[in-house]
Amino acid sequence: MMLKRPRGGLWLELNKTTAAERPIAELKAPARVYLPLKQCKGETPSLLVGRGSRVLKGQPIADGSHGLSCSLHSPVSGTVESIVEYNHPVGGKSMMAVISNDRCDMPYKAVQSRTDSAEGIIARVKSAGIVSSNDFSKPYWEKLRRFRERKVNTVIINAVEVEPYICSSQKIMDELPDVTVAGLELIMKCVGAKKAVLAVSDDIPEEVSRGMAEAAHLIDIELTIAHIPPKYPNGDEQFLMRALFAHEIEAQMKKGGKRPEVCFVYPQDCVNVQRAVNDGVPQITRIITVAGDAVTNPQNIEVPIGTKISDILNYCGLSFDPDRVVLGSPMRGVAIQSLDVPITKSVGAVLALKAAQRRNTKSICINCGKCVSVCPQGLLPNYIAMRAVKADFEALKGLNIDECIECGSCAYICPGRMPIVELIKNIKKAAI
Ligand code: SF4
Ligand code: SF4
Repeated sequence: MMLKRPRGGLWLELNKTTAAERPIAELKAPARVYLPLKQCKGETPSLLVGRGSRVLKGQPIADGSHGLSCSLHSPVSGTVESIVEYNHPVGGKSMMAVISNDRCDMPYKAVQSRTDSAEGIIARVKSAGIVSSNDFSKPYWEKLRRFRERKVNTVIINAVEVEPYICSSQKIMDELPDVTVAGLELIMKCVGAKKAVLAVSDDIPEEVSRGMAEAAHLIDIELTIAHIPPKYPNGDEQFLMRALFAHEIEAQMKKGGKRPEVCFVYPQDCVNVQRAVNDGVPQITRIITVAGDAVTNPQNIEVPIGTKISDILNYCGLSFDPDRVVLGSPMRGVAIQSLDVPITKSVGAVLALKAAQRRNTKSICINCGKCVSVCPQGLLPNYIAMRAVKADFEALKGLNIDECIECGSCAYICPGRMPIVELIKNIKKAAI
């Protein structure tokens, strides 16, 4: 595919080799799992169990069939020990079910007939409680419904991992190509798409994308491979859209051309959809990258939802007391204060880091212009930051802050340690 050269961005040291070379490990469920009912944006699902209820592995414990919500299932068989109020740093305030694991793995068997209609696939994804695997954490059935409404003609698998340590998409494609393309086929059927593109960062081994193309070919999907330079934030959907479809977008601007109707999916989404629709398995696990310079054995692991971060880090080992533990990616993730937090469906990585750059509002701009040169959106982050500090809303009007994708490139490069992204986020909130 012909790619448009991206503007701005950062060449980051990716540090993913050690985790990418190790096979995906499976973490056994701990003695207790902690399940915040609210696992995605939208409404909290209705609780189906109470203290003392016996549950089976895969049994629904909260029903998300009404409104914009997402069902929740038990990843273990055991007993509901308590229902408590909980404030998750990523998932927000919610009730949480604590389930003690009887270690018997007694499965819940839901009766499900085979389906391959669009409505059937959406219904199966909904009852499986799948949450979108990128950081926007929306109920996946709702995303599929919208893709279908938009009459999407091309599905793009976004496997462009250009942030340090993160390599779970690469490992999923490497080890589960058949499962991933079976999920892709279901998604294409559901949304009515005829074409599929796999966007991968250039640094991943050629055999990974070749394996995906071969697996797709076996089920009659011609997968076009697009190699993307491993520069941050090239995995951003807005960037990929511009890079892959520059000509169509230009034609549209000159009028007469049709805007390409595409949707982005992730390898983890494809696996979740395949398991839900073909195997009747709800989302009770997630494959995550566990890494960082404080981790002894960086690797990708399939972890039951509700496992505490402390259990995950104990499994991988810590060579140093981490200065910072981040849920999600290093550039956009959320630092947590306690390791007692459970993993939820929308968290794709746990990073334990030795030392982190501290930023504060007393930082100064020395007018070096570096933030301007790396901004992929062509904004003026220094101007925005200075006006945001003064809450000068009038001056901010002409600076297009809505176009900021909050990638963090400007703050990362800034020698004056200006907290530019925090300032932009706050000013966006204040402007609502
Ligand atoms: S990188 Fe930092 S110091 Fe340099 S112009 Fe931007 S805000 Fe100012
Ligand atoms: S966070 Fe916003 S302003 Fe900063 S580089 Fe990214 S897009 Fe530009």
